[in-house]
Amino acid sequence: MNIHEYQARELLRQHGIPVPPGEVARTPKEAEALTRKYEARVVIKAQVHAGGRGKAGGVKLADTPEEAGRLAEQILALQIKKFPVKMVLVAPAEEIAHEAYLGAIVDRSSGSVVLMASSEGGIDIEEVAANTPDKIFKESVDPRYGLMAHQASRLGFKLYAGDANRAKQAAKIIQALYQTMVDVGASLIEINPLITRPSGELRAIDAKINIDDNELFRKPEVAKLRDSSSEAADEMEAREVGLTYIKLEGNVGCCVNGAGLAMATMDMVKYYGGEPANFLDIGGSSNPEKVVSAIRIITADSSVRSILFNIFGGITRCDDVANGIVIATQQIDDTPPITIRLTGTNEEEAVRILEGAGFSAMTDMDEAVKKAVELATKG
Ligand code: GDP
Ligand code: MN
Repeated sequence: MNIHEYQARELLRQHGIPVPPGEVARTPKEAEALTRKYEARVVIKAQVHAGGRGKAGGVKLADTPEEAGRLAEQILALQIKKFPVKMVLVAPAEEIAHEAYLGAIVDRSSGSVVLMASSEGGIDIEEVAANTPDKIFKESVDPRYGLMAHQASRLGFKLYAGDANRAKQAAKIIQALYQTMVDVGASLIEINPLITRPSGELRAIDAKINIDDNELFRKPEVAKLRDSSSEAADEMEAREVGLTYIKLEGNVGCCVNGAGLAMATMDMVKYYGGEPANFLDIGGSSNPEKVVSAIRIITADSSVRSILFNIFGGITRCDDVANGIVIATQQIDDTPPITIRLTGTNEEEAVRILEGAGFSAMTDMDEAVKKAVELATKG
């Protein structure tokens, strides 16, 4: 789950990280009023679930309340990476002497949280990571012991070599960052930039937190931070009906039951020269409505050229899936060609239903995948 910057700032603040004040405005008038209240130069920042807002024109400085209103109006009219801006954060502007980067991710290969720090923070951190990875310092945290004080200090001192004052501030912030990670169930936290004020104090002026969805059930306070209206429409619809859907870049739409089979199906699509358009797991006890939603979501993705069903009927009944396919194609116009492979529970009934509606079904997975890839390529 993604949360907004203003929410992430609040979580960091609660854990003792120094974050400047700031409030959300939904209209230019509100932005103007907040600027008047702060009696200062302000920064106005788009609140959307996308990075790179600065480069997209979503971060602007304003000297007066009137200018803040005008800039807020411009930013509220933007769409950043497909996300319309519905609110802005208004915060007293900071004077920046230096921008650093701090990050924490769950690193699956080492099974631990890895902390990262770089003194080359700011909007080009991706290029730093790609071109000069040695400028990013790392510490891996053993989950049995948590972050050790000496690890936080080491990162702090690498980050601000020769400046003990800032190194110590950074070490504290790094410890609080790790604690936030654990407490909120984050899979990623980034503070970019962590700025140095001209006075030498550090402040976190941007924050990004991704919450691991599997933590939400035991962290109801964190789960409440979800802003469905700011999420990608397809992923939201999928979640509401209990499907696991992740959009990818290819053109073969995949509709599969079970995460393992879904992964195997994507591998096979690639093996036969195609590219999957999505990961979609319709889950165990799928009813026809779920299948209809799945087809609607896949079809709404304009890059999809062919749809592949790969169903291994266990708890999932093949006839339910077949009914879903038939209903969906009656309800939705212009679905791409559908290739169906199913085997297992109620397979014969499923084949009858599908053939009655003019579809054919296969039982061989290789054949089905090959055909779906072919249809996507020539279609
Ligand atoms: P992002 O582009 O989505 O990562 O948004 P950021 O909040 O990180 O802002 C992008 C850039 O805008 C930062 O790297 C800063 O250079 C600049 N910026 C953001 N807030 C302030 C501020 O309060 N004062 C000044 N002078 N610059 C700021
Ligand atoms: Mn940033």
